[in-house]
Amino acid sequence: MFRIRSMKLIACCAALVFSLGERAAHAEVTERHEKVVNEVFQRLLAVMETPDGWEVWPPEVTVVDKGFANAFAGFRTEDGVDVPYVEITVTTVEEIADYDPDTLAFTLGHELGHLFFDHNHQSVEFREKFGDKLQTIRLACNREQELEADLFGMQLAFKAGYSRQGLIKDLHAWRENTTPYCRFEGLSVNHPTWEDRATFLFDDERQKSLWRSLSSFQTGVMFLENQHHLHAQVCFENVTVEFPECYEAWANLGYSLLMQYCDGLDAEDLKNFNIGHLVVGGFYRRPGSLEPTVRGVDPDLWFEAVGAFREALRLKERLGLKDDLLMVKANLAVAYLIHPAGKDVGQAEQWFDEVFTALRNNPEDSQLDPLVHASILINSGSARGFDSDLVVQTLGLLAEAKTKRGNDLVAEALETALQFNQARALTTSGDPANQLTALALFEKYLDGMTSASSWWPIAYEQYVQLSEAVGKAPKKESEFKQLGIKDWRPITAVELADGKTIGLSQPLNEVLKTLGPADVEIPVIEGKNIKYYKYEDLGITILATREVLAVILDSEKAPAVKIQRPGLGGDDATLEMGMNRGVLEGLLGSDWDVEITNLFQLDELHQLYRDLGLAVQFEDGVVSELVISVVPLK
Ligand SMILES: [Zn+2]
Repeated sequence: MFRIRSMKLIACCAALVFSLGERAAHAEVTERHEKVVNEVFQRLLAVMETPDGWEVWPPEVTVVDKGFANAFAGFRTEDGVDVPYVEITVTTVEEIADYDPDTLAFTLGHELGHLFFDHNHQSVEFREKFGDKLQTIRLACNREQELEADLFGMQLAFKAGYSRQGLIKDLHAWRENTTPYCRFEGLSVNHPTWEDRATFLFDDERQKSLWRSLSSFQTGVMFLENQHHLHAQVCFENVTVEFPECYEAWANLGYSLLMQYCDGLDAEDLKNFNIGHLVVGGFYRRPGSLEPTVRGVDPDLWFEAVGAFREALRLKERLGLKDDLLMVKANLAVAYLIHPAGKDVGQAEQWFDEVFTALRNNPEDSQLDPLVHASILINSGSARGFDSDLVVQTLGLLAEAKTKRGNDLVAEALETALQFNQARALTTSGDPANQLTALALFEKYLDGMTSASSWWPIAYEQYVQLSEAVGKAPKKESEFKQLGIKDWRPITAVELADGKTIGLSQPLNEVLKTLGPADVEIPVIEGKNIKYYKYEDLGITILATREVLAVILDSEKAPAVKIQRPGLGGDDATLEMGMNRGVLEGLLGSDWDVEITNLFQLDELHQLYRDLGLAVQFEDGVVSELVISVVPLK
């Protein structure tokens, strides 16, 4: 019996589609497009085995004009028969392949791979069985299918005589053409990153480790942006092990370590250093050369951070790099302002001097990213004090930064820190008009900055003193904006008792190397590479494909999970098994504030804190299971 399905029910594609219709100018489908696509397609089909399951074979290929780069494999149902087809867009032929048959072969081979394994019908079955539920599992299966299609496409293209150069060109072109996203962000979408797809494909160590490092770098940057400094540290360490000459990785490694050190400083420590508000923002976002758990000063982290910065500078000398590494030098200056043995003004000044001399003398350096430039100015002002010129220049840079999409939040955070520093400078001037301005700036700061930041109580103390000095009643602490249940950094990793860390999106083989083989492996879906790895003694279960999708804490032996408020030096709290339901909900919100959802199984419900990346189950009024996972939106 045939089942009648709608036309073009489902299609697999080559790349992740972020937004459609971005490009207005549509190119036309010409004979030249069709000729090259057909030639490659027929040459691939000639060496391809006929797959089981299709009544109609071979499929047809069509060049379509959609205004963006992609390719699709799907089927339509005609008189009850499923007819497979492949489509490729004009933009793919022109911009990804530049009409080069060797490059096209991998994209078309990938689509034929989807048809060979019949991924379309598998996806239909999954939906019929689970509906819209179990998104994490569904997307993980999709990503596995993409890798399967990639491998098939590569082997088919080689079998048909296409070159390895074509493959490399194809991968680089897709990577350039699409919005970059990292392995961690990849957990909430249906395609792995191009870096991970390439790592999976290549079998020679050099290519493989290059792509693996690009992937780690990208992931590390995302963690830095989200203030997960420990997790970022691991990513950049991986890059420096494989590519010791990647100076950007050394610079970012130093930055992640310095930020962990800063996170450990409390208000008392900062008072002792007697400096203004430091800011974050100075790290590399692309590797051009490749294309603390407790409060208190931790000297080891500081020395490791400075060591990594110095390694970046040493590489600059040795490799004769053009990059002046101003960011690295500015970060070194900051490090000396918060030296564990006390502020070292001399060293900090020396590094700031180098940076400012370069900015004056080299016009190229004024091309510095405005956010990085602004953060250098704010940090230098924290040490040297602010005059009105410096404030005007910094505000100008921040305004420039805001014109770029995605910079808003960081720019606002820098503005807030600048308010603190401005207020601090005006307070000491003794001029009554200036003091009133300072008072207003302090109030703005206290409202805009999270009160969990270590600088907040310092600002409040100075605000109260200044209010009294000018004879005004200060506002109470509680009158400023309070932190809410949503104000936490997302959880991305679990730290075990012995200090080892298991991170979401971490490659499974790394985890197995760290923890050893699991006590039990349980497949989630028969025939799919998605399993639970149970570690009884650690009290954790890891859900993984090739990468970690979730860490499940489900026994008394499980470690506690630390959550932290955003902002440098943000407060923290601990979640653990057996903790009182009311206490957890007091921190994160109760069932009024959350979704109740099926995570990995149809017969189990969890209370989901989506923004935090945490799901919880309770039994008899206490926490009985904690799940750390990225749960994609439906
Ligand atoms: Zn695909």
